[in-house]
Amino acid sequence: MAWFDIKGEGNIFFAKLNELFNWSRGSSPWTLGFGIACCAIEMMATGASHYDLDRFGMFFRPSPRQSDVMIVAGTVTIKIAPMLRRLYEQMPEPKYVISMGSCSNCGGPYWQYGYHVLKGVDLIVPVDVYVPGCPPRPEALIYGILQLKEKIKNQSKVKNEK
Ligand code: SF4
Repeated sequence: MAWFDIKGEGNIFFAKLNELFNWSRGSSPWTLGFGIACCAIEMMATGASHYDLDRFGMFFRPSPRQSDVMIVAGTVTIKIAPMLRRLYEQMPEPKYVISMGSCSNCGGPYWQYGYHVLKGVDLIVPVDVYVPGCPPRPEALIYGILQLKEKIKNQSKVKNEK
């Protein structure tokens, strides 16, 4: 996957500043794992040695202030929703959200009768990529991450400028 066109000869190269920004952002987006139910087990497996998320430049950070991507993995209850939103607001721009699993996408098995469950995390934060499944396997999360990288590659310098 080529991030940008480099033109030039010898030691002098030309590239668009926008493409360099995106290359930098997309090469190593640090991750705030928001594991709140069973999907979190698959997210942890994705970061462990077998699937080795590090090879994509993704590292889990314990602080939202050091994170570019929030992975919401699990059932978002009404009670925890304000904390999730607050953590999102503490992340620096540009920031991204991956919704992992049916619960986070739309309420999952709690969609009809789960009075305590938010029917989609996109009701409180903007979601960039939805990963379907209950739970999604690590391969599915990795595919979602690659989709996010593709999205970052094509964005303009300021995230919300399309
Ligand atoms: S989508 Fe399924 S596996 Fe994931 S948190 Fe909900 S019930 Fe658990």
